[in-house]
Amino acid sequence: MPAYVLGHKIPDSDSICSAISLAYLKNAIGEEAVPVRMGELNPETTFILDTFGLDTPELKTSFAGESVYIVDHSDRAQSPDDLSEATVLGIVDHHKLGDITTSAPLECWIRPVGCSNTIIKEMYDYYNVEVPKGIAGIMMSAILSDTVIFKSPTCTPVDVAAVETLAAIAGVEDYKAFGVEMFKVKSRVEGTPVRELVMRDFKDFEMSGKRVGIGQLETVDLSVFDSVKADLQTDIARLKQEGGRHSVCLLLTDIMQEGSELLVVGDDLSIVEGAFDTSIIDGKVWLDGVLSRKKQVVPPLEKAFA
Ligand code: MG
Ligand code: MG
Ligand code: MG
Repeated sequence: MPAYVLGHKIPDSDSICSAISLAYLKNAIGEEAVPVRMGELNPETTFILDTFGLDTPELKTSFAGESVYIVDHSDRAQSPDDLSEATVLGIVDHHKLGDITTSAPLECWIRPVGCSNTIIKEMYDYYNVEVPKGIAGIMMSAILSDTVIFKSPTCTPVDVAAVETLAAIAGVEDYKAFGVEMFKVKSRVEGTPVRELVMRDFKDFEMSGKRVGIGQLETVDLSVFDSVKADLQTDIARLKQEGGRHSVCLLLTDIMQEGSELLVVGDDLSIVEGAFDTSIIDGKVWLDGVLSRKKQVVPPLEKAFA
C-alpha cells in the first residue's frame, strides 16, 4: 500500500510541488509514495507544472486507514478532516510547529527556512538521490514563490543556494526573470470571481479560541486590485459571517514596493490595530515591509489575541 504525500488545504505551489518532489524521492529510496492534492490548483501552480511538464497530482481529501506524509504544514486546521484516522509517517515543513500529534514515532524534517522544497532538496542530498530536470524546475519555482524571489524575511542563504543549484539542473538561466513572470500569473485578476481571489491563498488559524482567517494575494503591482478592492472588502465580510470567524484579513502584497495593504473585518479591530501598532481606516491599512504571513502577520496577531 503506497503512502500518500499531501500538502495543506487550499494548496499553494509549495504544497503541490513538495508533494511531487517528496513522493519522487521516497520512490527513489524504495518507499512507494503517491503525491496528492487537497484542492484545486491556483493559476501559479498550473503555470509551474505546465512549464516543467509535470502531471497534476490526483485530488484526495480523505485518508482514514491510509499512511501519509504531511508537507508544508503541521496544523490540524489545514489538514484532512479525518487525519486522526490515518498513520502519519512523517512531516516536512517550514512553519511554526502546529498541533498535529501521532501515536507512533515519525520522521520529522522541520526547519526555519523559506520553503518546504528547500528542506526536500536537503533530503535529496542526504539520500544521495539526483534531482530530475523537471522536478528541479518545480522545486526551484516553489522556493521562488514562497520566498517572494528572496525578498521575504523568511528567506535564508540555504534557500538561495538551493534555487541556484536547482535552476542549473532545470536549465533556467535567469531564474529571477522567471520568478517575476510567475508572480504576474499569480496575481492575474481579470475574469476571476471575487471569492476565488479571496480564497486563492487562504488559511484559518485558531487564536486563543477565536477563528481568524488570513488570505494573501501577491502581485508585482498593487494597482491591479484597484478595480476589485471594494468587492474584496464586501466578500471578506461575508466570509467572516459564513465561517463564524472573529476576523478575516486579506493581505494585498506588492512584492516590488515590499509591503502589504491589509484589508480587514473583525469583531474587535482594536486587536488588529494593536498587533501592527497602526490605525485601520475604512477597513484597510498599508503595512510597510510586510511580505510574510507566517513571519510578520501570524505571530503579532497571535500575541494580540492572547
Ligand atoms: Mg504553503
Ligand atoms: Mg511553504
Ligand atoms: Mg505563501
